[in-house]
Amino acid sequence: MVNIPRSHPRYESLLQREKVIEGFKKGYVALAGLIAHGRGECFDYLIGEKTIEPAMKAAEAAAAALLLSENPVISVNGNTAALAAEKVVELAEEARAKIEVNLFYRTEERAKKIADVLKRAGAKEVLGVNDAVAMIPELESERRRVSPSGILKADAVVVPLEDGDRTEALRKLGKVVIAIDLNPLSRTSRAANITVVDNVTRALPNITNFVRRYKTKNKSELRRILTSYDNDMILRDTIAVIKRRLDQLIKEGITLDLFS
Ligand code: ATP
Repeated sequence: MVNIPRSHPRYESLLQREKVIEGFKKGYVALAGLIAHGRGECFDYLIGEKTIEPAMKAAEAAAAALLLSENPVISVNGNTAALAAEKVVELAEEARAKIEVNLFYRTEERAKKIADVLKRAGAKEVLGVNDAVAMIPELESERRRVSPSGILKADAVVVPLEDGDRTEALRKLGKVVIAIDLNPLSRTSRAANITVVDNVTRALPNITNFVRRYKTKNKSELRRILTSYDNDMILRDTIAVIKRRLDQLIKEGITLDLFS
């Protein structure tokens, strides 16, 4: 991996980019995954590359939904494995969720490589490699292939970097879909029950922290968090945050003052 100096003003962003490129070189991130990452980077810039308040509220609701579910599953693709394998494993352990590989550009080799990355990060079991034998109806992409003991029977599914079609298909099957997507305008964001508009690297630990804190809450308290959650409002608030940031830049000026 290219050595990026820690002092670089965009260190964190460049490091993430290198991780995704590395995943591509190792054969588990799809070529289109590089483009998806670029789209994500753009929206991360717009939200200020930090967790904004609406994303924190969505992470809280996500934790409540996971704690209330019987069979939670975290769906993992190449980009998520490259950027946040350990964070997936931590959330899975706290929320007693299963981990399943699910790929748009599926090859058995890529699925296996992602499972290996997750296992090296501490996952005890990874579904969706040899057992992706069930089909989600209404889907034509390779993402329709799921594990019968994972996504097929899950009641809640965490879907980082998802595509809209599958989100809709999972909703139609009656599952609670928790999306992690930096683009508040994507079909995924708009079709999910709960959308955490944040980088997967920040969203996963935020959800894990809420799960840790809320484990001792009783079911009615968790249900109250969920029923007071309104995803449409959260997405509108997210767009309002972006708009405010842009308005401020227009008001205060945008160029960097390099010589003062
Ligand atoms: P849809 O079908 O939902 O409209 P799309 O066509 O934009 O989605 P993809 O091209 O699969 O879907 O892109 C995946 C999404 O993942 C993009 O919306 C992108 O903003 C988001 N994304 C990329 N990198 C990250 C990241 N690190 N964390 C969170 N989201 C990300």
